[in-house]
Amino acid sequence: MQKYLVHPVFGIISEVVEERREETWVIGGFVRDILLDKSPEDVQDIDIVVVGSGIGLAEKVRQKLGKDASLAVYKNFGTAMIRHGNLELEFVGARKESYRRNSRKPIVENGTLEDDQRRRDFTINAMAISLNKDTYGDLLDPFNGQDDLRKKIIRTPLDPEETFSDDPLRMLRGIRFATRLGFEIHDKTFEAIKKANSRIRIVSQERITGELNKIMETTRPGRGFRLLDACGLLQIILPELHRMKGVDEVEGIHHKDNFLHTLEVLDNLAAKSDDPWLRWAALFHDVAKPATKKFEPGTGWTFHAHDFIGAKMIPGIFKRLKLPLNDRMKYVRKLVRLHLRPIVLSQETVTDSAVRRLIFDAGDEIEDLMTLCEADITSKNERTVRRHLKNFAIVRKKIVEIEEKDHVRNFQPPISGDDIQYIFGIKPGREIGILKNAIKEAILDGKIENRFEPAYRMLLEEAKALGLKQVNSLEASRHQDGAPVEDDR
Ligand code: ATP
Ligand code: MG
Repeated sequence: MQKYLVHPVFGIISEVVEERREETWVIGGFVRDILLDKSPEDVQDIDIVVVGSGIGLAEKVRQKLGKDASLAVYKNFGTAMIRHGNLELEFVGARKESYRRNSRKPIVENGTLEDDQRRRDFTINAMAISLNKDTYGDLLDPFNGQDDLRKKIIRTPLDPEETFSDDPLRMLRGIRFATRLGFEIHDKTFEAIKKANSRIRIVSQERITGELNKIMETTRPGRGFRLLDACGLLQIILPELHRMKGVDEVEGIHHKDNFLHTLEVLDNLAAKSDDPWLRWAALFHDVAKPATKKFEPGTGWTFHAHDFIGAKMIPGIFKRLKLPLNDRMKYVRKLVRLHLRPIVLSQETVTDSAVRRLIFDAGDEIEDLMTLCEADITSKNERTVRRHLKNFAIVRKKIVEIEEKDHVRNFQPPISGDDIQYIFGIKPGREIGILKNAIKEAILDGKIENRFEPAYRMLLEEAKALGLKQVNSLEASRHQDGAPVEDDR
């Protein structure tokens, strides 16, 4: 395996190892990934295990690497981390762990390399390559991780029930690796997850969500959620999605399985965009379907207002998942709220004013919204899919044309509230809102252009109806057409 230890950092580590005379190995993700043909130059995080002091080794390695390298020591865990350029080196002393029933925190003792490999989560993560001189590059693989890599299998080194009971986070890690690598989870390992699934409750929400985010980053995240469902974890960590499962039938009419549909949408979308938040929006776009489901004789299954109600559910879900409650949440909520709009549009003849309103409401999210809606087409009928995509292409073209002409994407009213106060000599009050809204509506409906002059003309008309008298006049020449009004008084 020496050919894999090309990174100059291994040369430096092995010099220090030679001085310290402690058994030292590179282990875990690095070994797994290079055996999976990842180029060793692309690896950015390397785990080193020492039969001895991980911290002691790290301190010496940092000295040799020079001042570009930074060292963080975690005394409580007996680990240390060096950052050097974009490389992260994690050092740990080989350990033997035993667990109590209600905690992920093990009782730790020093151990042999074999002890350390046994406490690892999966066989493919338990392989180690020697960094000692006499055995440099030798692979130690007591649980046949190489074989599992070849067979594409996720399997625990020990009895899986013990492995998962010790640290239930490993259940999610297993699903994450299966999803990312396209591996199967070994039967016995999967059965053990089913049996231990409720133990996930002792894991912190941050760690759970960390794994969900990693599943989200994969090329086919839908498979991860299918696995979560199949082992019973979904019901515990994402009950909203679990509720979407299944098909009801009344009078011989059934609706589609909204859970499976959602996962298809998610995978379609993942093929088009890496944006994690757009992916979260895809996962939750139909989340209110169970809550709004009704069978209406003569019409069939309806999910009235599932877009609005779904949007309302987003802050609560984000809060529970400890996802950020900032503009990222608002972005997801907005996409959920608007996700039906382009569909409705594409089913009718696309009018300019409908497109203008869509651009106004979606703002900068308009392209992402279109991407989500295109991913939402999951019909098995190819002709239906083609027809929808063609309609969306027309909508997209119209969006560009209308935005070029009308600039409603980040709408700036051609006449401001301050202008209105000045023209009619009035104080802030409801008239201003009424007048501004009338102008905005007229622009969105295409009754007037988004420019100062027509808006000014309309304003004077509308104000008459409200019984307002003009006391000042605004010079049209002060305003560039379409540009926002500057207040220079
Ligand atoms: P990634 O590519 O995501 O970094 P990785 O395998 O390197 O994958 P890390 O979380 O960086 O995963 O952990 C490094 C190694 O530590 C793993 O390969 C595994 O051997 C071990 N490990 C990490 N977390 C656990 C855990 N919860 N239980 C057992 N072993 C673990
Ligand atoms: Mg890693």
